[in-house]
Amino acid sequence: MKIVMLGAPGAGKGTQAKMIAEKYSIPHVSTGDIFRANIKNGTELGKEAKSYMDKGELVPDELTVRILLDRVAQDDCKNGYVLDGFPRTIPQAEVLDAELTKMGDKIDFAINVEVPDENIVRRMSGRRACLKCGATYHIVHIPPVKEGICDKCGSELVLRDDDKEETVKNRLAVYHEQTQPLIDFYDKKGVLKEVDGTVDSKDVFAAITGILG
Ligand SMILES: [Zn+2]
Repeated sequence: MKIVMLGAPGAGKGTQAKMIAEKYSIPHVSTGDIFRANIKNGTELGKEAKSYMDKGELVPDELTVRILLDRVAQDDCKNGYVLDGFPRTIPQAEVLDAELTKMGDKIDFAINVEVPDENIVRRMSGRRACLKCGATYHIVHIPPVKEGICDKCGSELVLRDDDKEETVKNRLAVYHEQTQPLIDFYDKKGVLKEVDGTVDSKDVFAAITGILG
C-alpha cells in the first residue's frame, strides 16, 4: 500500500502518517527525516543536499526526488510506505509517478487531511513554547498549570515567530498555491481521498482506516 499524505502545515498529517505506518506496518517516509538521515550518515546524496542548505538555498526538486527514490527503493518499503512532505510540487509528483510506472507500480491513495485555514491559524497561534527546555503547550488544548509559565522548568512561555498569525497565513498561501494542483493531479488519477481534519485525531484516523480498509 503506497500512500501520499496531503494537508496544510498544522493540519495534523504527520500525526496521521505515523498512525497509519504503525497500524499497517509500513515505513513513515518523511522528507525531513530522510534528509537528516542522509546528512548524518554522510552519504553522497546527503553531502549534496548539505551543500545547498549550508548556503541557505532550497534543495532542488531533482535532488529531493533522488533522495526520496533512494529511500523507497530500500527493502522495508517493499510492501508500501506513507509519504509525508513529498511530493510538494507537480514536477515532483510527475517524477514519482514516472518512476513508479517503470516498476509497474503506483500510488494507491492520496489522503488529503482537510482543515480550513481559520482553524489552522487558531491552532497555531494558541501554541506556546518554552525556549529553555523545549516543552510546548496550547492555551486551549494543553495549557500549563500556571498561565505563561513552563510546568517543567518554570521559564516564561513565548509565542514563536513560526506560530504567529502572519507567518502561518503566509505559509498557508504558499501551501495552497503549490498543493491545489497536486490535489487535482491525484484526483484525476482516481486515488484522492479527503478526510475532515477538524475533528479529534482519533476520529480523523478512524476515517482514514475506513478508506484504507
Ligand atoms: Zn521549560
